[in-house]
Amino acid sequence: MKTAVIEKNKIVLKEVPDITLDDKDGAIVRVLGCGLCGSDIVKLREHISPDGTVLGHEIVAEIVEIRSNTNFKVGDKIITSHHIPCGKCKYCLSGNVSMCTHFKGTNIRPGGFSELVYVSEEHLQNVAYLIPENLSEIEASFYEPLGCCVRAVKRAKLMKGSTVLVIGLGSIGVLMSQALNAFGMDVIGCDLIQERIDFLRNLGIDAFKVSDLPQRVEADAVFMTSGADKAIDTALKAVRNGGTILVFSSTPQNFGYPNNEIYYRELTVLGSYSPSPQDLKDSLELLRDGKVNVKGISTQYEFKDIQKAFDDTIANRIMKAYIAIKHV
Ligand SMILES: [Zn+2]
Ligand SMILES: [Zn+2]
Repeated sequence: MKTAVIEKNKIVLKEVPDITLDDKDGAIVRVLGCGLCGSDIVKLREHISPDGTVLGHEIVAEIVEIRSNTNFKVGDKIITSHHIPCGKCKYCLSGNVSMCTHFKGTNIRPGGFSELVYVSEEHLQNVAYLIPENLSEIEASFYEPLGCCVRAVKRAKLMKGSTVLVIGLGSIGVLMSQALNAFGMDVIGCDLIQERIDFLRNLGIDAFKVSDLPQRVEADAVFMTSGADKAIDTALKAVRNGGTILVFSSTPQNFGYPNNEIYYRELTVLGSYSPSPQDLKDSLELLRDGKVNVKGISTQYEFKDIQKAFDDTIANRIMKAYIAIKHV
C-alpha cells in the first residue's frame, strides 16, 4: 500500500506492506479520502512530528476486512474520528474529555493519508458511522472538524441569541460560524481576505474585513479561529465587558491575554480542543440535516499531489484540502 510519511519536512509517498487485521478486532479500511487539518500543517511546519509519521485523521473510508461486535460489514462506507475518551478518569468526569490520557493515546493507524488504515473495535463502537446517503464523501469528511466546532460552541455556554464574533474565516471559521448559527447565535465573521468574507456572506452570515468592523460590536463572545497576534487585539476591542473569548487555534509564539483586561472587565477566556463522541454525533446530524453547508470549502487533490496540497494550504491559496485516494 501507499502511505504518505514525513521525511525531512516534506510529505513523500512510500510503498509499504499492506496492513491486515491478523488476530486483532476492528477493521481495515480503504481510505477514499482524507481532509487536511490545520493541526497537520502545524505538526509539519513546527517539526512536532518525527520523520516517518503519517498525518491525517479526517477520513472517509470503505471497510475491506472486519472482525467486530458492531453491525458494520465489508463494503460499508464510513467516517470515523481518531481519539476516544475513557469516560472514567478525572478529566473525562469533569468534561475535559480531550485531556484524557486514553483519548490522546488512541488513533487510527498508521494515519489517514494512507491507502489502508486500521480502525480499532473501540473506534467502531464509539466514533464511527455510516456515511449518510445524502452526503458526498468530501462533505462527510467534515464530520471530525465540525465536531471540534460543536464542542467549542457548547463549552462557551452562551444564551440563545447571543452576538458572537468569529475572527478568522478559513475552513474552521466557516464551520464555526455555521455551527454557532445552528445553535441559535447571532454571528458576525471577520477576516483580512475578501474572498473569505464573501464566502461567509454567501451562506447568509454577516462578515466584514477586520478594518470595516462596526465601531461597537459589543460581542457576548469572540471565537478565535485565527492565531494572529493582531486578532487578540481585535478580540479585546470587540468583546463586551463580562464576555467570553474562546481560544480555538494555536499561535506561532505564546502570546498572552492581558491579565488586567481579564480582571477589570470580568472576561472569560477559555479553550476548546478536539471533540467528544457526543459532539461528533451532533456534528453528523448538522451535516446530514443540511444545517451546516460545506459545499465549496475543500479543494480536491490526488494522493500523489499531497505535498502541493500542504503547500497551497500554507500559502492560503485554498481554504482546505481534501486528498482523494483512488485505488487501482
Ligand atoms: Zn482535524
Ligand atoms: Zn478519560
